[in-house]
Amino acid sequence: MMSSDPTRLLCAFLLALCSLGPTYGGTTTWDGKYDTSKIKVTVVYFVPADRQPLSDWKDRVQYYARRLEQFHAREFGDQSKLTMVVHPEPFVSKENTETLREGDANKIYFRTLGEVDRTLAFAKDDPSDRDAFPILLVLSEINWRPLDDFYRLHPDGGKLVFEGNLNQGQHFPGAASGGARAAYLANRGVGWGLVSGDGWRVPYRGTDCVVYHEGCGHTVGLPHPEPGNGSVMSMGQYRGWISESWLDKEQKSRMGWQPKKEGAEKGEPNQDSDGNHDEQPKSLAMELFTRFRAIPQPMVPKPNQDVLLKLDWPKDAKVKTLRVRYQTAIDGPWIEVPSEIDSAQPEVVSLGRFEEATPVSYRVDAELQSGETAELWGYLQVRSDVNQNPLPSSLSQDLLEATPAADPS
Ligand SMILES: [Zn+2]
Repeated sequence: MMSSDPTRLLCAFLLALCSLGPTYGGTTTWDGKYDTSKIKVTVVYFVPADRQPLSDWKDRVQYYARRLEQFHAREFGDQSKLTMVVHPEPFVSKENTETLREGDANKIYFRTLGEVDRTLAFAKDDPSDRDAFPILLVLSEINWRPLDDFYRLHPDGGKLVFEGNLNQGQHFPGAASGGARAAYLANRGVGWGLVSGDGWRVPYRGTDCVVYHEGCGHTVGLPHPEPGNGSVMSMGQYRGWISESWLDKEQKSRMGWQPKKEGAEKGEPNQDSDGNHDEQPKSLAMELFTRFRAIPQPMVPKPNQDVLLKLDWPKDAKVKTLRVRYQTAIDGPWIEVPSEIDSAQPEVVSLGRFEEATPVSYRVDAELQSGETAELWGYLQVRSDVNQNPLPSSLSQDLLEATPAADPS
């Protein structure tokens, strides 16, 4: 059964609930049927037959894998352990883009997951023999409909039109052309998640929320909480990185998670004044994960204007090194920006200047003197006019293929 989306989230969730099953000592799926004290997510990068894999696809996928493992560890402590296993090579489909896109967004979801599941012979063992709950998470190179997700443009009547979630200059994931979907397949005891290109290829702030939402949330049966809030199963992706979001305590409790701290029982608001919460002892590594941010300043720079990243740190952090990189094309090189540390907690770091209006993806790696590390990817657009999106000098393959069809004249 397909459920419509009550919170304007651009994904759909398929759920076939069974009666409540046996109870376990650790956490379980939403219906209580399967043990989730260990979860193994197989992450597959899916490329249609007529497309080229991104040369740095593994960097991107492994970044999300680390983010999700850290988030899950913060939220569940030792009561549920998430392991992300990245399939070592891109999965090249037998189908081309056009065939995959036939029909509605559900069709491309079933076509994509079905092909990967069959080819990998995914989780064919008896559920009672498993030592971890298996999830198949596919990160697709394409979207359901033509979309240049780096420029955030789709063809419409021969014109290129902006498509994406843009809030006061900040870019968040979300595009109707995307087609992300997920399901908990209770009869097989597996989860199936699809993140379309717009949800992960370009690191808008919040893409890590999308990957968790589809990859580890709906796939264990988690629905959208009602009423909506800033949690990762609700509007988290429109507010910030996953490190700034959370899982609802009520949802976790239903899955068998138990708070350790006194006074943290259910019913109490489940996030602290900073919007984050965790019941585990706070290590500096986890504090760094939770507090570290790198936000563009200004949010929408003009050409030839200095672009900075404003940095946030946990109070005990002493920064040893920073590494800053950016790219101005999704298949372009990552360019290093020399950075010097002038204090134990640098407030800003330079991203440089850009001569022309352009999208920019960036990544920051930080290491503390005490050895902890953090990594964050983000995105901005340099604009000549704040209301005018940058235009590509040449059309991406997606737009090239789509534009003639969209313009019969
Ligand atoms: Zn959803």
